[in-house]
Amino acid sequence: MVLKLYNTLTRATEEVTPLNGKEIRMYTCGPTVYDFVHIGNFRTFVVQDLLRRYIKYTGLPLFHVMNITDVDDKIIHNAMESGLAIEDYTARYTEAFLEDMETLCLEKPEVMPRATEHIDQMVDLILKLREMGHTYESEGSIYYRIRSFPDYGKFSRLDLSEVPVGGRIDADEYAKENPRDFVLWKTRKEGEKYWDTPFGPGRPGWHIECSAMSMKYLGESFDLHIGGVDLIFPHHENEIAQSEATTGKPFVRHWVHSEFLLVNGEKMAKSKKNQYTLRDLLVRGFNPMAVRYLLQSVHHRKQLNFTLEGVEQSQSALTRVNEFLLRLREVPDDFPGDTRLNRRVVRARSDFVSALDDDLNTSGALAALFQLIKEVNVLLERKQVGSDNRDHILGFFRDANRVLAVFDVEERGAEDDQVMVLIREREQARFQRDYQQADKIRADLLRQGVELEDTKEGTRWKKRSVEN
Ligand code: AMP
Ligand code: ZN
Repeated sequence: MVLKLYNTLTRATEEVTPLNGKEIRMYTCGPTVYDFVHIGNFRTFVVQDLLRRYIKYTGLPLFHVMNITDVDDKIIHNAMESGLAIEDYTARYTEAFLEDMETLCLEKPEVMPRATEHIDQMVDLILKLREMGHTYESEGSIYYRIRSFPDYGKFSRLDLSEVPVGGRIDADEYAKENPRDFVLWKTRKEGEKYWDTPFGPGRPGWHIECSAMSMKYLGESFDLHIGGVDLIFPHHENEIAQSEATTGKPFVRHWVHSEFLLVNGEKMAKSKKNQYTLRDLLVRGFNPMAVRYLLQSVHHRKQLNFTLEGVEQSQSALTRVNEFLLRLREVPDDFPGDTRLNRRVVRARSDFVSALDDDLNTSGALAALFQLIKEVNVLLERKQVGSDNRDHILGFFRDANRVLAVFDVEERGAEDDQVMVLIREREQARFQRDYQQADKIRADLLRQGVELEDTKEGTRWKKRSVEN
């Protein structure tokens, strides 16, 4: 197992090995918690989870950081509109994000730093940049002078004379020397949250957050940095400019960017009002594992067009695998089976790993599973699968699921799936403070003999025993 990934920095596919010889250090640009995260965002977060899982699968230790951006223009605007303090506003959507992560079986990174808890690190970095002559002040805000960093633009390889200015709309940017200079610190505005600093009161720009938090937890140079393709410019170009200007060292060795989830050929985005949240899809009765399946069914460097039929097809594909696993579990212990079939499983394992080694080719990895299913189904029909074969195949699917995280590799019936759908609907109702609906679902489940228990880790359920 030698994982190779396409690196945006070098535009080549390169082996991933730990810079410090011990562990892979990886950073994901996390969500801005101003609303529910949509499944376009989750495509990128699923990709980084696959990467996380596969790195560990190959036996490499991993230390992974994903930030939460909990202060920005949209957050401040929305919090004000809803009459909440920004901490209360962002707490709500951070919690929703963590819940959605869990629903999609995304593993929690080792550290999830909040931007507002790392203002000191950002201030230090800005002070360093100021000392080194990379900044200037204009109307109380501090800007990065891109002209002071000769490598600016090398990463994204854009002809900067032609790129439209902007990226994120920034209402607070006043007089800049060069329209592409970007804000490091925004001056305080009346009624808005601010922090006092040696260069005046205000709040951080978005780009400085990631440089400060990634270097705090992962060091000045680390292995992997991941986000969607829209982050290549200007966000990642700016992160490099900020970090490398202060350390004089290469910031990140390997940059991974995943392509967009589209709707009718357009990027799924809140601003386009074409987004679906995970919760929207669960309310429609979709299994969250089908959503994850869909998001990871196409190679991450290819665009993926989202449709509800697509989720249905994913659900069918998933059912096919789960039904296969059920049938397989029913194979009795009568005879051990054919060693040739075990060798076939070894080949399927090797195809699975080769596909993932090759730039995390998930569609290739799934093809290896489906090819095996096709062949074994024929043998199951003829009752030619023995207990030893059964255990080999189940073992393979269990291992594959350590990466793909979508299959029912442990015994669980369709009835249980239905209970999970209702539990999620109830969580959604509670989140929307529709307690009447939430209580109704609880009562319906109780009538079916299912008792719920709300814990800090989420809702647990158990079947009441018959005597009750
Ligand atoms: P944001 O909260 O806007 O910073 O986005 C969080 C992550 O989602 C970033 O890595 C974005 O690049 C990514 N992202 C945003 N929209 C999409 C989309 N339609 N498809 C895939 N990734 C996306
Ligand atoms: Zn970032």
